[in-house]
Amino acid sequence: MESVKDLDPEIYSLVMQEERRQNDKIRLIASENYVSKAVLETTGSVLTNKYSEGYAGKRYYEGQQLIDQVEQLAINRAKALFGAEHVNVQPYSGSPANIATYLAFLNPGDTILGMALPHGGHLTHGAKVSISGRYFDAQSYELDAATGLLNYDNIRQRALAVRPKIIIAGHSAYPRILDFKIFRQIADEVDALLMVDMAHFAGLVAGGVHPSPVPYADVVTTTTHKSLRGPRGAMILCKAKHAQAIDKAVFPGVQGGPHDNTTAAIAVALKEAATDSFKRYATQILKNAKTLADSLMAKGFTLITNGTDNHLMLVDLTNKNISGKTAAKALDKAGIVLNYNVVPYDKRKPVDPSGIRIGTPAVTTRGFKENEMLLVSSLIEKVIGDPENDELLANTAEEVKKLCSHFPAPGLEHLH
Ligand SMILES: *Cc1c(COP(=O)(O)O)cnc(C)c1O
Repeated sequence: MESVKDLDPEIYSLVMQEERRQNDKIRLIASENYVSKAVLETTGSVLTNKYSEGYAGKRYYEGQQLIDQVEQLAINRAKALFGAEHVNVQPYSGSPANIATYLAFLNPGDTILGMALPHGGHLTHGAKVSISGRYFDAQSYELDAATGLLNYDNIRQRALAVRPKIIIAGHSAYPRILDFKIFRQIADEVDALLMVDMAHFAGLVAGGVHPSPVPYADVVTTTTHKSLRGPRGAMILCKAKHAQAIDKAVFPGVQGGPHDNTTAAIAVALKEAATDSFKRYATQILKNAKTLADSLMAKGFTLITNGTDNHLMLVDLTNKNISGKTAAKALDKAGIVLNYNVVPYDKRKPVDPSGIRIGTPAVTTRGFKENEMLLVSSLIEKVIGDPENDELLANTAEEVKKLCSHFPAPGLEHLH
């Protein structure tokens, strides 16, 4: 980044410090990752200079000889990888992808049914503060109070009661696998469309270690930058019969020109996601999550649903007499970065809830395996047991840095 260094030393310095931070810390935010150098390079390419409103062969600007090929490659790779009939790779991110899906099928005031935000749903699944909750009649289903699991009978009852036009399955904080087949049956019973938002677990689906929603859902939305390990962006996968409605909703419905540099980087990430090495990464994500979950439970931590089947876990810290926020802040000082999170039926407020969320994609990308996860578990226990001990936090941060120095992350090899 020599040019940035010359032109804008302030931004240069901040980016360099962020490189250091990402290198020296154990990053356990479930939605984050390290993209490959190839993805980074493509994101920073001259494709950022191009305008290409429209779709391949039907653009509103000239000079698309190469952009059309780029977008078609991304589409073809996504279709092959996920077995989808149609794919739109233009959504700027996960939230606009979801809003475009609503625009494709709903009128203002229509009813949608999604997982409640405090139970692991996303803002765009009908939260009141989101456009999805303001412009539509947003109804929600919740997790079972006793088990923390989805209760499909209850979802069915809710669907029969509110008759949604769209049922949304998907989450940002649910540690188990969704039963797409039952969701499909419920949607058919009430004549609703089924939309699956696989933003969090798309990389697991691509790696073949998680059931695919694609055969069951009318529409599947996903971010490209979480477990899928691509640039920040999103895709909408759908049945052929919905192709036109989806494409029109993305452009010109919600967006203008697509971010062609991102589209190209999505194509690169999809090529990576089709490799055996990506399958090994996806398999290891699950092993790492399970190892960490089992180890934390053995140390007396309460995990929602008693464990995990995917890349994340939700820890209820109530019995440890510490709030999620206090724990997350202390862990950050100790070099372990995660987020505080509401737990189902949380008695505390969302700004300082009872839980923390832990995800394994990023550490798996940099090469952590079961042994490192056991160490991470011990460090978490130590910090949470003594969160105001500044010396402990500083020593832990040093220990974390030393550990991380053995695991160069993609894009950060030059720091080693
Ligand atoms: C992250 C996420 C999104 C939104 O993605 P952004 O790119 O942050 O807009 C949508 N749905 C789910 C389930 C998510 O986890």
